[in-house]
Amino acid sequence: MNLKKALNKDFKLALKKIKKYDKIAVFRHQRPDFDAIGTQLGLVYWLRDSFPTKEIHFIGKDFSQFKDTLYPAMETVDDNFFENKFLAIIVDTGNSQRIDDERYKKADFIIKFDHHPNDEPYGNINIIANELSSASELVSTFCMNFEKKYPLPILSCKYFYSGIVGDTGRFLFSSVDCYTFEVASRLLKYGLKPAFDVYDKMYEKDIESLNLQRYVLNNMKVSSKGVAYYILLDEDLKELNIEADRGKEHLSLMSNIKNIPIWFSITEYKEKNEFRVSIRSKKIDISKVANKYHGGGHINASGATIYSIDEIDSLIKDLEDLI
Ligand code: AMP
Repeated sequence: MNLKKALNKDFKLALKKIKKYDKIAVFRHQRPDFDAIGTQLGLVYWLRDSFPTKEIHFIGKDFSQFKDTLYPAMETVDDNFFENKFLAIIVDTGNSQRIDDERYKKADFIIKFDHHPNDEPYGNINIIANELSSASELVSTFCMNFEKKYPLPILSCKYFYSGIVGDTGRFLFSSVDCYTFEVASRLLKYGLKPAFDVYDKMYEKDIESLNLQRYVLNNMKVSSKGVAYYILLDEDLKELNIEADRGKEHLSLMSNIKNIPIWFSITEYKEKNEFRVSIRSKKIDISKVANKYHGGGHINASGATIYSIDEIDSLIKDLEDLI
């Protein structure tokens, strides 16, 4: 694979830095998804297995959607850890504003691993591959590059696999190519059983999820030019008994519908006085509109924030103008 060749020098440099530091902290973006957490944990377990004498942590707030499921609870890492020289590895995070936990700023050296456009190369080394489906695909490639000496533990395979599955919508999106399957296949060769180790937990539903699904189907709207959306205000979240972080959970119900090329969800974060917008599209590049509304992301999957629900009309108009 050409990409692997292109990244080989950076991979070697990253490994050299990993070897140099006794303390390593792995960060990811705020409001994580499967790919952010999967990549972060996959890397941490590989690092711990490969370098057992180092102190290695994963950093970031607990995220309600993932509690008691596939992943362990996040660690609480004392401020003291960050007072000594440490290496920060930041995964799946395009811009520094979105890094979960500001203490990355104290790092002696930063390595960025990402598959978003490299708008802000905040790392001392920036290892970017936006042609890959997921950060998990990229970081698995990194670890596998050194697997003869440092094989992947089964937990890393499980976490990386969950990240790939999460960011490709179960191998459905256009970002999937033969290399995605090659990486997935190599993870399975370590003995991973996807149904038992990953899917059973990843796709287990609670009753709240079904109620949210019903809400989306009953309340989604479609604009005259084919922009579909649903809105979850704080009162709706309370009634559905779900936290705001889960608001975008059923976005995919609006995907692949004839004559609906763009769709989004809006979720109110009352305590922050803001509304999170998750935008998706089939072919159209929606990332510029996300940028305009304090966000960003990929061509077909971006996030944004609005500060008043009245902004929804201009958001819809901007998205309709893309159609
Ligand atoms: P979400 O709708 O939150 O699932 O985000 C969709 C994609 O856009 C993910 O890959 C996010 O990492 C990215 N994204 C979301 N919000 C932002 C932001 N404020 N800036 C840059 N990228 C973002």
